[in-house]
Amino acid sequence: MGQCEMGLPPAGKWSRARIELQLQQWFGGVPDFLLTFDAHYASVCSDAEFCALVEHELYHAGQERDQYGAPKFRRDGSPAFGLRGHDVEEFVGVVRRYGADAAGVRALVDAANRPPEISRASIGHISGTCQLRVA
Ligand SMILES: [Zn+2]
Repeated sequence: MGQCEMGLPPAGKWSRARIELQLQQWFGGVPDFLLTFDAHYASVCSDAEFCALVEHELYHAGQERDQYGAPKFRRDGSPAFGLRGHDVEEFVGVVRRYGADAAGVRALVDAANRPPEISRASIGHISGTCQLRVA
């Protein structure tokens, strides 16, 4: 229904050049981010659902962070943009403004309001990424 991409893909000489030409023809320049939405979905969903989708995609547009969590900048002082993944914090504002149903996180909210089926420590021991945090 929606997608957020960097204006130019990070690698691939020929595909990058092809996309750069197409973006310049469409927009007169290369945007930092490119958000694409399904026109049919946009025509049938509610305003709140569409706003939640747009905001969700905007949350993916972010600034890269250094190893200490501080925003990264390029040598010329401009922000180093990057795509951000999902995390709970990104959804809080969307849910607060549009509700769990419009944001498509009803299942997440319902799950969060129930006791965990597997304890956090158990999850930590089956995920390699989480194991580092549990240890
Ligand atoms: Zn997403």
